[in-house]
Amino acid sequence: MARIAYVNGRYVPLTQASVNIEDRGYQFGDGIYEVFYAYRGKLIDEALHFARLTRSRGEIGLTAPMGDAALRIVIHELMRRNRVATGLVYLQLTRGVARRDHAFPTPAPRPVLTLIVRPKPEPPEALAGWGAAAITLADERWGRCDIKSINLLPNVLAREAAKQAGALEAILFDAEGRVTEGASSSVWIVGADNVLRTRALDHHVLPGCTRAALLEDVAAEGMAFREEGFSLEALRAAREIFITSATSFVKPITALDGVPVGNGAPGLIASRLSARYLARLRGA
Ligand code: PLP
Repeated sequence: MARIAYVNGRYVPLTQASVNIEDRGYQFGDGIYEVFYAYRGKLIDEALHFARLTRSRGEIGLTAPMGDAALRIVIHELMRRNRVATGLVYLQLTRGVARRDHAFPTPAPRPVLTLIVRPKPEPPEALAGWGAAAITLADERWGRCDIKSINLLPNVLAREAAKQAGALEAILFDAEGRVTEGASSSVWIVGADNVLRTRALDHHVLPGCTRAALLEDVAAEGMAFREEGFSLEALRAAREIFITSATSFVKPITALDGVPVGNGAPGLIASRLSARYLARLRGA
């Protein structure tokens, strides 16, 4: 069955889906995106993703091509046409097509909204075998990583470096040696003090929707937790490391720069949180 994309109001075969080469997303990376995970027809953490989309859009001064209710209908229609109930939904919104000039075009062109969906496996039943390796890398991104911008070259380079090293993710650290986040994930650690930590939100990290949802699970579990940053040394000394994202859920990092984390198996805290998160996802 041919895959179908959504391009500015039309459902078209993916092979014919295209945008103008003067699209500002293509020429300047002048746009934002959002990624949803759909599980058996439901968008997981939907309200959080819609809220972040609105925020990213507002931060770069883009108008909404349609309201959230209409967008929800488009997403579900695209899933239906592709016969994808469980998978990934990628949404991209750019400033639109205009003669190339850095400053915002006036009058503002119509923003270009594109969407694709693709099937993705259901989450794992248990964390055993779900662990992955990560490397550490200097964070070379810009100063507004809280905006889910389509400018992902540093993230692309970091993920390629991870792949070349046989790892899944690159965990990034700033000039002060403080961990920011993964190339496409939020990072959490459990230290020798058994306290779970993830960095507080600021302009240097994306406000992860899975992170936000998991904070409720952390509270429900009554775990020792601090929303505070940590150093590269603390990362290396951690008993547990795990990453979160909409499509990787809670993913234990079992090796860092080639060295096992803890005993090299998914940790207890990650397992408990993953169980809670996935139970909610399955019941959602
Ligand atoms: N940080 C970055 C840089 C990301 O690209 C992502 C997701 O792609 C995340 C964090 C996790 O965000 P979410 O949990 O909303 O998928």
